[in-house]
Amino acid sequence: MKQQEYIQITEENLIHTYNRYPIVLESGEGVYLYDVNGKKYLDFGAGIAVFALGYNNRTYNDAIKNQVDHLIHTSNLYYHTPLAEAAQKVVKASQMDQVFFTNSGTEAIEGAIKLAKKYAYQKDNQTDHEIIAMQHSFHGRSLGALSVTGNIKYQEPFKPLIGGVKFAEFNQLESVLEQITDKTCAIILEPIQGEGGIYPATLEFLQGLREVCDKKDILLIFDEIQCGMGRTGSMFAWQQYGVKPDIMTMAKALGCGIPVGAFAAIKRVADSFVPGDHGTTYGGNPLACAAVSKVFDLFEELHLVEHVKENSDYLEAGLDMFVRKYDQVKARRGKGFMQGLELTIPVGNIILKALDLGLILISAGSNVIRFVPPLVITKEDIDEMLSILEKTIQSVL
Ligand SMILES: *Cc1c(COP(=O)(O)O)cnc(C)c1O
Repeated sequence: MKQQEYIQITEENLIHTYNRYPIVLESGEGVYLYDVNGKKYLDFGAGIAVFALGYNNRTYNDAIKNQVDHLIHTSNLYYHTPLAEAAQKVVKASQMDQVFFTNSGTEAIEGAIKLAKKYAYQKDNQTDHEIIAMQHSFHGRSLGALSVTGNIKYQEPFKPLIGGVKFAEFNQLESVLEQITDKTCAIILEPIQGEGGIYPATLEFLQGLREVCDKKDILLIFDEIQCGMGRTGSMFAWQQYGVKPDIMTMAKALGCGIPVGAFAAIKRVADSFVPGDHGTTYGGNPLACAAVSKVFDLFEELHLVEHVKENSDYLEAGLDMFVRKYDQVKARRGKGFMQGLELTIPVGNIILKALDLGLILISAGSNVIRFVPPLVITKEDIDEMLSILEKTIQSVL
Protein backbone atom coordinates (compact mmCIF):
# COMPACT_ATOMS: atom_id res chain seq x y z
CA MET A 1 0.00 0.00 0.00
CA LYS A 2 1.17 3.53 -0.70
CA GLN A 3 1.65 6.23 1.93
CA GLN A 4 -1.32 8.17 0.57
CA GLU A 5 -3.62 5.14 0.90
CA TYR A 6 -2.74 4.63 4.57
CA ILE A 7 -3.45 8.29 5.20
CA GLN A 8 -6.80 8.09 3.41
CA ILE A 9 -7.93 4.94 5.25
CA THR A 10 -6.94 6.45 8.58
CA GLU A 11 -8.81 9.68 7.91
CA GLU A 12 -11.93 7.78 6.82
CA ASN A 13 -12.06 5.65 9.94
CA LEU A 14 -10.65 7.75 12.74
CA ILE A 15 -12.50 10.50 14.57
CA HIS A 16 -10.87 13.69 13.43
CA THR A 17 -9.22 15.19 16.53
CA TYR A 18 -5.76 15.70 15.04
CA ASN A 19 -4.39 17.40 11.96
CA ARG A 20 -1.63 14.89 11.36
CA TYR A 21 1.56 15.55 9.44
CA PRO A 22 1.39 13.73 6.09
CA ILE A 23 3.88 10.93 6.78
CA VAL A 24 3.29 7.30 7.73
CA LEU A 25 5.97 6.13 10.16
CA GLU A 26 7.09 2.55 10.17
CA SER A 27 10.25 2.04 12.21
CA GLY A 28 12.90 3.72 14.27
CA GLU A 29 16.58 3.30 15.00
CA GLY A 30 18.43 5.47 17.52
CA VAL A 31 17.47 9.09 16.89
CA TYR A 32 16.02 8.38 13.44
CA LEU A 33 12.53 7.43 12.27
CA TYR A 34 11.67 5.89 8.91
CA ASP A 35 8.43 6.21 6.98
CA VAL A 36 6.83 3.56 4.74
CA ASN A 37 8.75 4.91 1.75
CA GLY A 38 12.02 4.42 3.59
CA LYS A 39 12.59 8.15 4.06
CA LYS A 40 14.73 8.94 7.10
CA TYR A 41 13.92 11.63 9.67
CA LEU A 42 16.08 12.99 12.48
CA ASP A 43 13.63 13.03 15.39
CA PHE A 44 13.65 16.07 17.70
CA GLY A 45 10.12 15.40 18.94
CA ALA A 46 10.55 11.91 20.46
CA GLY A 47 6.81 11.24 20.20
CA ILE A 48 6.19 14.36 22.34
CA ALA A 49 9.01 13.96 24.86
CA VAL A 50 8.39 10.24 25.29
CA PHE A 51 11.11 8.19 23.64
CA ALA A 52 14.04 9.28 25.81
CA LEU A 53 16.11 6.16 25.12
CA GLY A 54 16.07 6.48 21.35
CA TYR A 55 14.37 3.92 19.15
CA ASN A 56 15.10 0.23 19.09
CA ASN A 57 17.21 0.08 22.24
CA ARG A 58 18.01 -3.65 22.43
CA THR A 59 17.96 -3.96 26.22
CA TYR A 60 14.66 -2.12 26.52
CA ASN A 61 13.07 -4.14 23.69
CA ASP A 62 14.27 -7.43 25.18
CA ALA A 63 12.89 -6.55 28.62
CA ILE A 64 9.47 -5.91 27.11
CA LYS A 65 9.54 -9.03 24.93
CA ASN A 66 10.59 -11.08 27.92
CA GLN A 67 7.70 -9.69 29.98
CA VAL A 68 5.24 -10.42 27.16
CA ASP A 69 6.30 -14.07 27.33
CA HIS A 70 5.86 -14.19 31.12
CA LEU A 71 2.80 -12.17 32.06
CA ILE A 72 1.18 -9.12 30.50
CA HIS A 73 -1.68 -8.42 32.85
CA THR A 74 -2.98 -9.43 36.28
CA SER A 75 -5.26 -6.56 37.53
CA ASN A 76 -4.46 -4.82 40.79
CA LEU A 77 -6.07 -7.52 42.92
CA TYR A 78 -2.70 -9.28 43.13
CA TYR A 79 0.99 -8.53 43.59
CA HIS A 80 3.50 -9.13 40.80
CA THR A 81 7.26 -8.77 40.60
CA PRO A 82 7.56 -5.90 38.06
CA LEU A 83 5.19 -3.85 40.25
CA ALA A 84 7.43 -4.14 43.31
CA GLU A 85 10.50 -3.24 41.29
CA ALA A 86 8.96 -0.32 39.41
CA ALA A 87 7.38 1.19 42.55
CA GLN A 88 10.68 1.06 44.41
CA LYS A 89 12.55 2.72 41.55
CA VAL A 90 9.98 5.50 41.06
CA VAL A 91 9.92 6.26 44.78
CA LYS A 92 13.71 6.41 44.93
CA ALA A 93 14.10 8.63 41.85
CA SER A 94 11.23 10.97 42.71
CA GLN A 95 12.13 11.36 46.42
CA MET A 96 8.44 10.83 47.14
CA ASP A 97 7.26 8.15 49.58
CA GLN A 98 4.59 6.24 47.66
CA VAL A 99 3.31 5.96 44.12
CA PHE A 100 0.18 4.95 42.17
CA PHE A 101 0.52 3.81 38.54
CA THR A 102 -1.86 4.99 35.83
CA ASN A 103 -2.12 4.47 32.06
CA SER A 104 -1.48 8.05 31.00
CA GLY A 105 -0.46 11.50 32.13
CA THR A 106 -4.06 12.65 32.22
CA GLU A 107 -4.99 9.88 34.63
CA ALA A 108 -2.03 10.77 36.82
CA ILE A 109 -3.45 14.30 37.06
CA GLU A 110 -6.91 12.92 37.90
CA GLY A 111 -5.40 10.87 40.70
CA ALA A 112 -3.37 13.80 42.01
CA ILE A 113 -6.48 16.00 42.14
CA LYS A 114 -8.49 13.30 43.93
CA LEU A 115 -5.70 12.74 46.44
CA ALA A 116 -5.49 16.47 47.22
CA LYS A 117 -9.27 16.63 47.67
CA LYS A 118 -9.26 13.60 49.96
CA TYR A 119 -6.46 15.07 52.07
CA ALA A 120 -8.46 18.26 52.56
CA TYR A 121 -11.72 16.39 53.15
CA GLN A 122 -10.11 14.35 55.92
CA LYS A 123 -9.14 17.51 57.72
CA ASP A 124 -12.52 19.24 57.83
CA ASN A 125 -15.17 16.94 56.29
CA GLN A 126 -16.06 19.70 53.83
CA THR A 127 -16.60 19.19 50.09
CA ASP A 128 -16.13 22.70 48.76
CA HIS A 129 -12.35 22.84 48.44
CA GLU A 130 -10.66 24.90 45.77
CA ILE A 131 -7.67 24.34 43.50
CA ILE A 132 -5.47 27.04 41.99
CA ALA A 133 -4.04 26.29 38.55
CA MET A 134 -2.06 28.40 36.07
CA GLN A 135 -2.98 30.24 32.90
CA HIS A 136 -1.50 28.58 29.79
CA SER A 137 -1.00 25.32 31.65
CA PHE A 138 -1.66 21.91 30.16
CA HIS A 139 -2.63 18.92 32.27
CA GLY A 140 -4.70 16.73 29.95
CA ARG A 141 -8.06 16.29 28.24
CA SER A 142 -10.29 14.37 30.63
CA LEU A 143 -12.85 16.49 32.47
CA GLY A 144 -10.84 16.75 35.71
CA ALA A 145 -7.50 17.44 34.01
CA LEU A 146 -9.20 19.84 31.59
CA SER A 147 -10.64 21.72 34.57
CA VAL A 148 -7.12 22.71 35.67
CA THR A 149 -5.87 23.36 32.13
CA GLY A 150 -5.63 27.12 31.60
CA ASN A 151 -6.81 27.26 28.02
CA ILE A 152 -10.32 28.60 27.42
CA LYS A 153 -10.42 27.20 23.89
CA TYR A 154 -9.93 23.62 25.15
CA GLN A 155 -12.43 24.08 28.00
CA GLU A 156 -15.35 26.05 26.61
CA PRO A 157 -17.46 23.39 24.79
CA PHE A 158 -17.16 20.94 27.68
CA LYS A 159 -18.45 23.06 30.53
CA PRO A 160 -19.48 22.65 33.28
CA LEU A 161 -16.14 21.23 34.42
CA ILE A 162 -15.27 20.45 38.02
CA GLY A 163 -15.98 23.42 40.27
CA GLY A 164 -13.73 25.39 42.56
CA VAL A 165 -10.83 25.87 40.16
CA LYS A 166 -9.23 29.31 39.96
CA PHE A 167 -6.50 30.43 37.59
CA ALA A 168 -3.46 32.54 38.38
CA GLU A 169 -0.60 33.92 36.28
CA PHE A 170 2.42 31.63 36.03
CA ASN A 171 5.53 33.17 37.63
CA GLN A 172 3.42 35.89 39.32
CA LEU A 173 3.36 34.97 42.99
CA GLU A 174 1.02 37.88 43.85
CA SER A 175 -1.59 36.59 41.43
CA VAL A 176 -1.56 33.20 43.17
CA LEU A 177 -1.70 34.73 46.65
CA GLU A 178 -4.74 36.78 45.60
CA GLN A 179 -6.66 33.60 44.77
CA ILE A 180 -5.97 31.77 48.03
CA THR A 181 -8.91 31.36 50.42
CA ASP A 182 -9.62 29.16 53.44
CA LYS A 183 -10.97 26.63 50.94
CA THR A 184 -7.80 26.27 48.86
CA CYS A 185 -6.57 22.68 49.05
CA ALA A 186 -3.95 22.59 46.29
CA ILE A 187 -1.89 24.58 43.82
CA ILE A 188 -1.03 22.72 40.62
CA LEU A 189 1.56 23.70 38.03
CA GLU A 190 4.23 22.49 35.63
CA PRO A 191 7.72 23.54 36.83
CA ILE A 192 8.37 24.17 33.13
CA GLN A 193 5.22 24.81 31.11
CA GLY A 194 5.32 22.59 28.02
CA GLU A 195 2.32 22.93 25.70
CA GLY A 196 1.92 26.54 26.85
CA GLY A 197 5.15 27.52 25.06
CA ILE A 198 8.15 26.23 27.11
CA TYR A 199 8.18 28.63 30.06
CA PRO A 200 10.42 27.66 33.01
CA ALA A 201 9.22 28.73 36.45
CA THR A 202 11.44 31.16 38.30
CA LEU A 203 13.08 29.99 41.51
CA GLU A 204 11.43 32.80 43.47
CA PHE A 205 8.00 31.73 42.21
CA LEU A 206 8.41 28.10 43.28
CA GLN A 207 9.95 29.09 46.60
CA GLY A 208 7.12 31.55 47.23
CA LEU A 209 4.52 28.86 46.48
CA ARG A 210 6.24 26.38 48.78
CA GLU A 211 6.29 28.93 51.57
CA VAL A 212 2.61 29.80 51.37
CA CYS A 213 1.65 26.12 51.00
CA ASP A 214 3.60 25.27 54.15
CA LYS A 215 2.04 28.12 56.06
CA LYS A 216 -1.55 27.22 55.12
CA ASP A 217 -1.27 23.44 54.72
CA ILE A 218 -2.07 23.69 51.00
CA LEU A 219 -0.69 20.88 48.84
CA LEU A 220 1.80 21.79 46.14
CA ILE A 221 1.34 19.59 43.06
CA PHE A 222 4.01 19.57 40.34
CA ASP A 223 3.10 18.16 36.95
CA GLU A 224 6.40 16.65 35.77
CA ILE A 225 4.81 14.67 32.96
CA GLN A 226 6.77 16.49 30.27
CA CYS A 227 9.67 18.14 32.12
CA GLY A 228 10.45 15.08 34.26
CA MET A 229 12.54 11.96 33.60
CA GLY A 230 15.87 13.66 33.03
CA ARG A 231 14.69 15.99 30.30
CA THR A 232 15.88 19.20 31.94
CA GLY A 233 19.17 17.92 33.32
CA SER A 234 17.92 16.48 36.62
CA MET A 235 15.72 13.40 37.02
CA PHE A 236 12.81 15.70 37.87
CA ALA A 237 12.83 19.42 37.17
CA TRP A 238 11.95 20.40 40.75
CA GLN A 239 15.16 18.75 41.97
CA GLN A 240 17.29 21.48 40.40
CA TYR A 241 15.11 24.18 41.98
CA GLY A 242 15.33 22.48 45.36
CA VAL A 243 11.58 23.03 45.88
CA LYS A 244 9.90 19.75 46.72
CA PRO A 245 6.21 19.18 45.95
CA ASP A 246 3.75 17.22 48.09
CA ILE A 247 2.35 15.38 45.07
CA MET A 248 3.91 14.98 41.65
CA THR A 249 2.78 13.46 38.39
CA MET A 250 4.86 11.76 35.71
CA ALA A 251 4.24 9.92 32.41
CA LYS A 252 5.66 10.48 28.89
CA ALA A 253 9.25 9.18 29.22
CA LEU A 254 8.37 7.10 32.30
CA GLY A 255 7.68 4.06 30.13
CA CYS A 256 9.49 5.31 27.00
CA GLY A 257 6.64 4.24 24.75
CA ILE A 258 4.68 1.72 26.79
CA PRO A 259 1.69 3.78 28.00
CA VAL A 260 2.16 4.42 31.70
CA GLY A 261 1.88 7.34 34.09
CA ALA A 262 2.05 7.77 37.85
CA PHE A 263 1.37 10.12 40.68
CA ALA A 264 3.52 10.00 43.78
CA ALA A 265 3.21 11.75 47.12
CA ILE A 266 4.83 12.26 50.45
CA LYS A 267 3.63 9.80 53.10
CA ARG A 268 1.38 12.15 55.09
CA VAL A 269 -0.55 12.93 51.90
CA ALA A 270 -0.49 9.43 50.39
CA ASP A 271 -2.03 8.12 53.62
CA SER A 272 -5.25 9.99 52.85
CA PHE A 273 -6.19 7.31 50.33
CA VAL A 274 -7.58 4.05 51.70
CA PRO A 275 -8.70 0.98 49.74
CA GLY A 276 -11.72 1.91 47.63
CA ASP A 277 -10.74 5.56 47.12
CA HIS A 278 -9.02 5.04 43.80
CA GLY A 279 -8.38 2.25 41.33
CA THR A 280 -7.53 1.12 37.81
CA THR A 281 -7.75 -2.15 35.92
CA TYR A 282 -4.67 -1.73 33.74
CA GLY A 283 -2.63 0.80 35.72
CA GLY A 284 0.76 -0.58 36.72
CA ASN A 285 0.26 -3.89 34.96
CA PRO A 286 3.27 -6.22 34.54
CA LEU A 287 4.07 -5.05 31.00
CA ALA A 288 3.96 -1.35 31.95
CA CYS A 289 5.98 -1.92 35.12
CA ALA A 290 8.62 -3.98 33.30
CA ALA A 291 9.06 -1.01 30.97
CA VAL A 292 9.30 1.51 33.84
CA SER A 293 11.75 -0.67 35.69
CA LYS A 294 14.02 -1.09 32.66
CA VAL A 295 13.81 2.62 31.84
CA PHE A 296 15.22 3.53 35.27
CA ASP A 297 17.98 0.91 34.89
CA LEU A 298 18.95 2.28 31.49
CA PHE A 299 18.88 5.88 32.66
CA GLU A 300 21.52 4.87 35.19
CA GLU A 301 23.56 2.67 32.86
CA LEU A 302 23.65 5.27 30.11
CA HIS A 303 24.14 8.18 32.57
CA LEU A 304 21.34 9.96 30.75
CA VAL A 305 20.78 12.73 33.27
CA GLU A 306 24.49 13.63 33.20
CA HIS A 307 24.45 13.38 29.41
CA VAL A 308 21.65 15.97 29.22
CA LYS A 309 23.45 18.23 31.67
CA GLU A 310 26.70 18.00 29.71
CA ASN A 311 25.19 18.64 26.28
CA SER A 312 22.42 21.14 26.87
CA ASP A 313 24.73 24.19 26.70
CA TYR A 314 25.64 23.08 23.20
CA LEU A 315 21.99 22.84 22.13
CA GLU A 316 21.20 26.19 23.76
CA ALA A 317 24.14 27.92 22.08
CA GLY A 318 23.09 26.54 18.70
CA LEU A 319 19.52 27.76 19.14
CA ASP A 320 20.62 31.15 20.49
CA MET A 321 22.42 31.69 17.20
CA PHE A 322 19.03 31.75 15.44
CA VAL A 323 17.78 34.41 17.84
CA ARG A 324 20.76 36.61 16.98
CA LYS A 325 20.62 35.96 13.27
CA TYR A 326 16.91 36.17 12.37
CA ASP A 327 14.59 39.03 13.30
CA GLN A 328 11.60 36.68 13.24
CA VAL A 329 13.17 34.44 15.90
CA LYS A 330 12.33 36.31 19.08
CA ALA A 331 13.61 34.20 21.95
CA ARG A 332 14.87 30.86 23.17
CA ARG A 333 13.53 29.43 26.42
CA GLY A 334 13.92 26.16 28.29
CA LYS A 335 16.16 23.90 30.28
CA GLY A 336 18.24 20.91 29.21
CA PHE A 337 16.69 19.06 26.29
CA MET A 338 13.36 20.86 26.66
CA GLN A 339 13.78 23.98 24.57
CA GLY A 340 11.56 26.37 22.65
CA LEU A 341 12.24 28.96 19.96
CA GLU A 342 9.60 31.66 19.90
CA LEU A 343 8.97 33.25 16.53
CA THR A 344 7.03 36.34 15.56
CA ILE A 345 5.01 34.21 13.12
CA PRO A 346 3.12 30.87 13.27
CA VAL A 347 5.59 27.98 12.97
CA GLY A 348 3.36 25.52 11.08
CA ASN A 349 5.06 26.04 7.73
CA ILE A 350 8.52 25.76 9.24
CA ILE A 351 7.64 22.41 10.78
CA LEU A 352 6.23 21.15 7.46
CA LYS A 353 9.33 22.29 5.58
CA ALA A 354 11.63 20.66 8.17
CA LEU A 355 9.73 17.42 7.70
CA ASP A 356 10.30 17.70 3.99
CA LEU A 357 14.04 18.07 4.68
CA GLY A 358 14.06 15.07 7.02
CA LEU A 359 13.75 16.68 10.46
CA ILE A 360 10.88 16.06 12.87
CA LEU A 361 10.03 19.07 15.03
CA ILE A 362 6.89 19.89 16.98
CA SER A 363 5.28 23.13 18.08
CA ALA A 364 4.14 24.37 21.48
CA GLY A 365 1.32 26.79 20.82
CA SER A 366 1.23 28.53 17.44
CA ASN A 367 4.47 30.54 17.55
CA VAL A 368 6.93 28.26 19.34
CA ILE A 369 9.08 25.48 17.87
CA ARG A 370 9.61 22.87 20.59
CA PHE A 371 12.76 20.76 20.84
CA VAL A 372 12.28 17.62 22.95
CA PRO A 373 14.63 15.06 21.35
CA PRO A 374 15.47 11.59 22.63
CA LEU A 375 17.84 12.17 25.57
CA VAL A 376 20.54 10.09 23.88
CA ILE A 377 21.27 12.68 21.14
CA THR A 378 24.92 13.61 20.63
CA LYS A 379 26.57 16.88 19.60
CA GLU A 380 26.67 15.50 16.04
CA ASP A 381 22.90 14.99 16.10
CA ILE A 382 22.50 18.55 17.39
CA ASP A 383 24.72 19.82 14.56
CA GLU A 384 22.66 17.92 12.01
CA MET A 385 19.43 19.32 13.45
CA LEU A 386 20.79 22.89 13.46
CA SER A 387 21.92 22.61 9.87
CA ILE A 388 18.52 21.36 8.66
CA LEU A 389 16.78 24.00 10.76
CA GLU A 390 18.92 26.68 9.15
CA LYS A 391 18.00 25.49 5.65
CA THR A 392 14.36 25.31 6.69
CA ILE A 393 14.26 28.80 8.14
CA GLN A 394 16.09 30.28 5.16
CA SER A 395 13.61 28.75 2.74
CA VAL A 396 10.48 29.72 4.71
CA LEU A 397 11.30 33.18 6.09
C1 LIG B 1 1.30 15.36 27.92
C2 LIG B 1 0.98 16.05 29.20
C3 LIG B 1 -0.13 15.68 29.98
C4 LIG B 1 -1.11 14.62 29.53
O1 LIG B 1 -0.53 13.38 29.41
P1 LIG B 1 -1.24 12.25 28.50
O2 LIG B 1 -0.33 11.07 28.62
O3 LIG B 1 -1.33 12.80 27.11
O4 LIG B 1 -2.56 11.98 29.08
C5 LIG B 1 -0.30 16.32 31.20
N1 LIG B 1 0.56 17.25 31.63
C6 LIG B 1 1.63 17.64 30.91
C7 LIG B 1 2.56 18.66 31.45
C8 LIG B 1 1.88 17.06 29.66
O5 LIG B 1 2.92 17.47 28.93
